[in-house]
Amino acid sequence: MNAMQSGKGFVDLFPPQSDMFTSIESQARSVFARYGCKELRTPLVEFTELFVRGIGAETDVVQKEMYTFPDRKGRSMTLRPEATAGVLRACIQHGLLSQEGLCKFFTIGPMFRYERPQKGRQRQFHQINAEVLGSRSHLADADVLFMLHAFLTEIGLSGLIYELNNLGCPQCRPMFRHALEAYYGRVRHDDLCSDCLRRIRTNPLRVLDCKAPTCREITKDAPSIADHVCDPCRSHFNQVTALLEESGLQTRRNPFLVRGLDYYQGTTFEVVSSDLGAQASVAGGGRYDGLVRELGGPDVPGIGFACGMERLAMLVSEPMPPSLDAFIATSGDHVLARAALMARKLRAEGFGVEFFYESKSMKSQFRAANKLNARACIILEDAGEGGVFLKDMLTGEQTPCSADQLAWNLRKLRAS
Ligand SMILES: [Zn+2]
Ligand SMILES: [Zn+2]
Repeated sequence: MNAMQSGKGFVDLFPPQSDMFTSIESQARSVFARYGCKELRTPLVEFTELFVRGIGAETDVVQKEMYTFPDRKGRSMTLRPEATAGVLRACIQHGLLSQEGLCKFFTIGPMFRYERPQKGRQRQFHQINAEVLGSRSHLADADVLFMLHAFLTEIGLSGLIYELNNLGCPQCRPMFRHALEAYYGRVRHDDLCSDCLRRIRTNPLRVLDCKAPTCREITKDAPSIADHVCDPCRSHFNQVTALLEESGLQTRRNPFLVRGLDYYQGTTFEVVSSDLGAQASVAGGGRYDGLVRELGGPDVPGIGFACGMERLAMLVSEPMPPSLDAFIATSGDHVLARAALMARKLRAEGFGVEFFYESKSMKSQFRAANKLNARACIILEDAGEGGVFLKDMLTGEQTPCSADQLAWNLRKLRAS
């Protein structure tokens, strides 16, 4: 371990990746605002108990992946591994759920999970999350998915498929659970992975999305939840699916989609993009109607989603680097102060301007201007009023220019 290097799974984001994050985030803010969804910034650290109750003691996240530590008074604290629990905790704590009406919030920021780092998955990763609290209507499910679709489309993703599953409700899910227990009770136990051997007792639904090949093989013939849901659950789900299809979204039923967290019920979804050739999941979420009460709040339903920024950044094209209008090339120490004042004035007028703080050869300054993709070079030869030349970096044409005319000329070059 070299303590002067970042930890495994903790990465530095430089341009163009940091530019892409910023651009994706600002598009999320703009789309979500149109849907009446407001930004909430919750702490990165919460009491561990919140996540144990909010995510589920039996989940992989809580069992193996949390960054948990005692604070100086010995209280167990955890770096947030996901956003929903913190958002709900904040809404309950500030009494936002006791009033009539909807609560719609999004959060953007880092999450932390102790996992094996791989491409697109880090220990500090970044998510955009949205939560809509206060409605059981199928229109809420559809609207959340429409908002997600608008965002993903506006950042440039195409070929999106909405995989959907219906996890049922506390009335009908126990029947499905029994059917699963009975099914897995019949199969040869040593064919299941060690995690699933535990899951068939604690949460047999989780066996459905196990990625181990032997578990997948066994699960192929497992009972389907679609055959076990009650009428209200079936009708809710069919209405959601119909609305999505009417608006042209491509949907696909995935009976093995149970998501990693215990609290999901009813509509659950994952968005898959075919933009990378192989299909990659870019977002996921679902309904969690019992969770607010589980966390000590009123009986308020909710639905939400999370998108991984790292994955999105791999799929969208790089934003254009911010353009530099001019590089001020100086002919010696005597014009450096004039260059500094000129740069400040032009920047205040909205131009992107760069210059060197030390005098260097003209050749190296032109090279820097090219590297920075500057549209023009302003060549300063005189510390007084005159001696200003403007060089068009596309044509190479160099003309004398009065200092007052610089802004006008730079604007003209920008438009050309
Ligand atoms: Zn039901
Ligand atoms: Zn398994």
